[in-house]
Amino acid sequence: MDFRDTAAEAAFRAELREWYAANLPPGWADREPTVGLEDLDFMRTWSRKLFDAGYAGISWPKEYGGLALPPTYQGIYLEEAARHDAPGHIGVIGLGMAGPTIMAWGSQDQKERYLRPLLSGAEVWCQGFSEPGAGSDLAAARTRAVLDGDEWVVNGQKVWSSHAHVADWCILVVRTDPDAAKHRGLSYLLVDMHAPGVQVRPLRQITGDPEFNEIYFTDVRVPRDSMLGAPGEGWSVAMTTLLHERGTLGFALTARFEQLLHRLVRTARIPGPDGSRPADDPLVRDRVGALAIDLEALRFTNYRALTALVRTGVPGPEGSIAKLHWSEANQRLTSLAQELEGDRARLDGGFWGYQQLRSRGNTIEAGTSEILRNIVAERVVGLPRSR
Ligand SMILES: Cc1cc2nc3c(=O)[nH]c(=O)nc-3n(C[C@H](O)[C@H](O)[C@H](O)COP(=O)(O)OP(=O)(O)OC[C@H]3O[C@@H](n4cnc5c(N)ncnc54)[C@H](O)[C@@H]3O)c2cc1C
Repeated sequence: MDFRDTAAEAAFRAELREWYAANLPPGWADREPTVGLEDLDFMRTWSRKLFDAGYAGISWPKEYGGLALPPTYQGIYLEEAARHDAPGHIGVIGLGMAGPTIMAWGSQDQKERYLRPLLSGAEVWCQGFSEPGAGSDLAAARTRAVLDGDEWVVNGQKVWSSHAHVADWCILVVRTDPDAAKHRGLSYLLVDMHAPGVQVRPLRQITGDPEFNEIYFTDVRVPRDSMLGAPGEGWSVAMTTLLHERGTLGFALTARFEQLLHRLVRTARIPGPDGSRPADDPLVRDRVGALAIDLEALRFTNYRALTALVRTGVPGPEGSIAKLHWSEANQRLTSLAQELEGDRARLDGGFWGYQQLRSRGNTIEAGTSEILRNIVAERVVGLPRSR
């Protein structure tokens, strides 16, 4: 594989850089670290700008507002967005998970109804998979949907649902056949978050941000045709969502890791109270060097994942390697930064403290490290299945 941009890719990257220079809000780079959803109006306006420029759906079909470019261009966009520390699109879950799943499984009517408003940021999506008794083991989901005439009646509880407090729609895994074998009794609904009976209760994370929520469903009526796939096909539909969740995310994560590594080096060069610089300590240099190697390994894993995506059109299991490696390396990096700062940790506005706390959730969301190791062992290395 040739790692350099082609002439067309280089032109796209240059155009993107110019666009950021012209459109990023003044002072954006100096803001406090946040989850980015505090200022909803700004996020919606920014998402609309991305959509109008074509950057919201770079590899999406033109009929839904995309540019229909190969996934390499999406990779370039993610790299540049992270390098500019640019605000993202409001529809993280919509763009990364709901959209690709609707494209793969939806009827023509469903595609026409949901995809364009999702891409423009007019409608926000959340993911209702996890439950108090079903996280890693998604097939244990107990939220019930029972058919009543032309409607599904939904009852149950979901948890850890990111952005549900601002969402208009939810991709929801429900049990429609309690008598069928675990994986076969599930179905996949598209649920209006404004419907009567939907109650969202925000949960505060260790960072202090209320990024995710509990969702309670009490006799929520969902039109019969708001299902992706047939009743009982929910497990297969959900697998499409999860493959996309870890799909091209690696590019953004790696570019972000690179930024943090540069910042770590700056932190290591600041002299302590006794005048010595952590950067001069051979043990610190060794740990920073190991993180630089992590960065290169991540970069090449992403290229491997991208090559598989270009060849097959669907994300492969390499996305799980990238997510596992990044989330664990990121914890090592943020821990080292905090150690180096020591008593001065508060002087930079708590930047590293926030990053360290947020990095804890990264090894849990989108599959815990243990689950990802199982996936890599079975689907990449080819070891016997554990279950
Ligand atoms: C920041 C954040 C955002 C999230 N956003 C969403 C969202 O938007 N929508 C959503 O549906 N969910 C979301 N989640 C939930 C996330 O998907 C689950 O927390 C995750 O899948 C783990 O499930 P659990 O918390 O029930 O832990 P459990 O599944 O109970 O796991 C507990 C521990 O047991 C280990 N374990 C479990 N099974 C195995 C096994 N087979 N082999 C080895 N070890 C195992 C796990 O690795 C973990 O350490 C989010 C979580 C976080 C932290």
